[in-house]
Amino acid sequence: PTALLWFRRDLRLGDHPALLEAVAAAGPDGAVVPVFVFDPRLWGPSGLPRRQFLLDCLADLDRQAGGALVLRHGDPARVLPGLVREVGAVGVHVSADTGVYGRERDAAVERALGGVPLVRTGSPYAVTPGRVTKSDGTPFRVFSPFARAWREHGWRDPAPRPDAVPWATGVASEDPPEVTGLDGVALPPAGEAAGLDAWRRFRAQRLEGYRTSRNTPGTDGTSRLSAYLKYGCVHPRTLLADLAGLDSESADSFRNELAWRDFYADVLWHRPESAREPLDRRMQAMTYDSGPEAEERFAAWAEGRTGYPVVDAGMRQLLGEAYVHNRVRMIVASFLVKDLHVDWRRGARHFMSHLVDGDLASNNHGWQWVAGTGTDASPYYRVFNPTRQGKEFDPGGDYVRRWVPELRDVPARYVHEPWLAPAGVPAGYPLPVVDHAEERRVALERYERVRDRA
Ligand code: FAD
Repeated sequence: PTALLWFRRDLRLGDHPALLEAVAAAGPDGAVVPVFVFDPRLWGPSGLPRRQFLLDCLADLDRQAGGALVLRHGDPARVLPGLVREVGAVGVHVSADTGVYGRERDAAVERALGGVPLVRTGSPYAVTPGRVTKSDGTPFRVFSPFARAWREHGWRDPAPRPDAVPWATGVASEDPPEVTGLDGVALPPAGEAAGLDAWRRFRAQRLEGYRTSRNTPGTDGTSRLSAYLKYGCVHPRTLLADLAGLDSESADSFRNELAWRDFYADVLWHRPESAREPLDRRMQAMTYDSGPEAEERFAAWAEGRTGYPVVDAGMRQLLGEAYVHNRVRMIVASFLVKDLHVDWRRGARHFMSHLVDGDLASNNHGWQWVAGTGTDASPYYRVFNPTRQGKEFDPGGDYVRRWVPELRDVPARYVHEPWLAPAGVPAGYPLPVVDHAEERRVALERYERVRDRA
């Protein structure tokens, strides 16, 4: 028999339970047709970095499959039944997609396939969203108890890489779409081998100090695995299995970050509206600024010219590498929402169109966390002070100097507040667009109004 393997966010061959199912379904004399469908509903809103990275991952997958990867364009609910008929497939195998659109799409595909089964095996997460609940069966709303239950639940052992896959040959493939206009953006090398290589290097060289170095954007202290995890070039189960038995604080801290990723996917699974709406419903009444002045401020933020060095460095890193360090994501998000009073959804959309690791669950819930509308018991009145954050986490100014060359010669003492430097703010670098202390007061006032009304 012929089995179809529909790749989505699982662009690898190792530790891939759905691939093993497809191989088993095909049997010793059958064939597996690997297919990727360019769905306009996903491709359209994807930013250029994600489009390019995805194409590069697919090229890697195609090489690994000996050129057998079949590319098709269109609505999967139309394309897949057509392909099933074309190759006479007895089943379509996938890793489950638990995202908002993915769930609907898969249900539509399932209906359109009629009697041919859509077989879901595994998911992009260590623990499939929805599986970890409180003892009364309700979902967790805050991270720490979720993480404890997640650890107790545990995860499966990695699936073995199949020795040989009977890839079907000769099935017609279409050309991939073109991506233009990404010049000057440095993307990571794509694909499974590149992802595993990044992981091995991190584990050997940087894992030990991760607990502290993960907070210093000026050092290369984190794994930079987010894009590989997003597209499933690497599965978190593979990483967790490699960490088994390591009980250092750093290994624990890394596991915890993978738990955050699972947590946000779990929240989205239970509350699909949380991609767009504040999780804390009271915060629907929060007021944000709009109009020409707010637009101007948004542009200053997006282009990295707010006059706050660590904010500008972060926004320029986003444009230069389609990536921002986690600590700095929090700082720039807080600045947009609480210093510039722009709706977090605007910032979240901007991130989604520029990040190579842009992921609805992690991104939108990360924004909600910072905006004080989210999962956290996070009080709205946690307002990041960009100067203090800069001094604490980038004390020598290495990160700022890397991304804001105008500040290269400013002494470390002033690099996060160049307006105080005896020589003045260097030519070409702006003065702060707003006064942090004043905007913090405004933000808290607005918050209190919402809270008092609730
Ligand atoms: P490491 O520190 O090496 O962590 C390892 C992995 O754990 C990451 O690759 C990621 O998969 C996961 N992880 C780490 N921190 C988080 C977290 N806070 N939430 C969820 N998963 C986490 N992450 C994304 O993958 N996609 C996004 O679109 C995204 N948007 C964000 C937006 C905001 C406003 C904030 C505050 C955070 C966002 N994050 C997002 C989380 C985090 O910033 C990135 O996962 C991390 O910076 C990626 O770098 P790394 O792979 O070197 O991380």
